[in-house]
Amino acid sequence: MPNNKETFTITAALPYANGPIHIGHLAGVYIPADIFSRFKRLTNNDVVFICGSDEHGVAISLASKKASISPNELIDKYHKMIKKSFDEFGILFDNYSRTSNKVHHETSLKFFKNLEEKNLFSLIKSEQFFDEDENQFLADRYISGTCPICSFDEAYGDQCEKCGSTLSPDELKNPKSTISNSTPILKETKHYYIKLDEFEDFIRNWITVENKDKWKINVVGQVKSWLDSGLKPRAVTRDLDWGIPVKIDGEDGKVLYVWFEAPIGYISSTIEWAKENDKDWEQYWKNPNTNLIHFIGKDNIVFHCIIFPIMLKMFGDFILPKNVPANEFLNLEGNKISTSRNWAVWLHEYLIDFPNMQDVLRYVLISTCPETKDNDFTWKDFQTRNNSELVGIYGNFTNRVLSLINKYYYGKIPNPNSKNNIDELVLNEVKSLKSKIELCLNEFKFREAVKSLMNIARVGNKHLAETEPWKIKESDPERVEQILQTSYIIITYLSVLSEPFIPFTSNKLMKMIGLNDFSWDMLDNVSENIDYSFKIDKIEMLFRKIEDFEIDLQINKLNGNPNL
Ligand SMILES: [Zn+2]
Repeated sequence: MPNNKETFTITAALPYANGPIHIGHLAGVYIPADIFSRFKRLTNNDVVFICGSDEHGVAISLASKKASISPNELIDKYHKMIKKSFDEFGILFDNYSRTSNKVHHETSLKFFKNLEEKNLFSLIKSEQFFDEDENQFLADRYISGTCPICSFDEAYGDQCEKCGSTLSPDELKNPKSTISNSTPILKETKHYYIKLDEFEDFIRNWITVENKDKWKINVVGQVKSWLDSGLKPRAVTRDLDWGIPVKIDGEDGKVLYVWFEAPIGYISSTIEWAKENDKDWEQYWKNPNTNLIHFIGKDNIVFHCIIFPIMLKMFGDFILPKNVPANEFLNLEGNKISTSRNWAVWLHEYLIDFPNMQDVLRYVLISTCPETKDNDFTWKDFQTRNNSELVGIYGNFTNRVLSLINKYYYGKIPNPNSKNNIDELVLNEVKSLKSKIELCLNEFKFREAVKSLMNIARVGNKHLAETEPWKIKESDPERVEQILQTSYIIITYLSVLSEPFIPFTSNKLMKMIGLNDFSWDMLDNVSENIDYSFKIDKIEMLFRKIEDFEIDLQINKLNGNPNL
């Protein structure tokens, strides 16, 4: 292994275990994170790619009450389902943990106690709405009433969905508990608040000065606007019976707020992995040379760029993220993806309709990844990108070349003694596309990277079209050998460099052309590393055309959904 090896701790936002995963999650977070992790592994770095289910919080407590099952049954169901989807789509985590695991409770409490001992919390008494029927305090979301602005009578304690006003629960007229429908009372409670305000200058300097040009503009911009409105102390505990219990002044009935403990889940998931793999977890979180990268959606920027770094700084001796390449949102057919309205493409349903076509979705989602602004997924675009790019360019090139090698040389890869200048130029073009892919991936420009990958197949097709080996098979057999050897080398590049983006196809293609142990570095001496004793056997189709009726079915399914 080369000695420029670096260490990467790569995290992907913990999905909330109260529902399945849809394409928006995949495009915004998990595919970019997976591509980056695979790329760093393939280029010989020491990588740990961490995630897990976020299993606490009031939404889970409430959803389980509504379904008349225990919170444990609810999280077990969705944890399993989410994990299965990730496995099926080739999201290759080193550890996919859960925040209900013991290691996470212990790690979070250690964090809480450390900050408590350093006097970084203030104890604040306040009056909050309390549901006497259910014997519990109510989160703002679980109080409804009449909006003081527009008189809509089903406004929530935090927001009126009709006029869009931001509210606080005491502004609502006729407040009601959405759990029991009873009228809540105001009751005094005590909570710890983390002193974020004391670290405002540290964050301002670290992000808006030190990292200003290294981080994405949308990320730095959002951090700036949070800082401009001033950081305030934020409650780290709440009154709830589901979560990580803590005592305040000896009082029970409190748990850690989910926003406080969920990011600690990255650390506990790493500790769990390290134990199972005989590694030292501190190398991945405390070594200043380690690159910590958080992959998230834009709704999580404040937690990963402001609050969690402050927590790490408060605890001391943890590293801070090197980058947080947050993405914007992916819309679906022009509308915002919505779980409650079922306006989404669910991963488990996609695979029923398009079995074994994970890579097609991976390819389309990365090509339309909402990197700098919100982007739109449409089924028509999905079909076009499959039919004209994956089938028409990538599949067409590999299939033509391998068929000609089978036809002319019975599957044996030609290895003529002579070289041709045109071929050298073409191979240099491919080499420079490889460098471009690497550069783009290092800068989190996934769309441009995948475009360069497809350009390799474009270069190959163009070379075939210009040299037309089938026309000179009899008149210049040596030239034909050169052309097909060059084409085979281009396929070698294509198959190896495809792995981060479309891993299933990459594996299939590499097997088919005899590259079982061919690594990313071996491309640097590609000609010497090719095994010319290998014989290509059966050529499998890598992609298939998607018909109009399949797309119509998907569009009808969306429009026919009864929740619209
Ligand atoms: Zn209103």
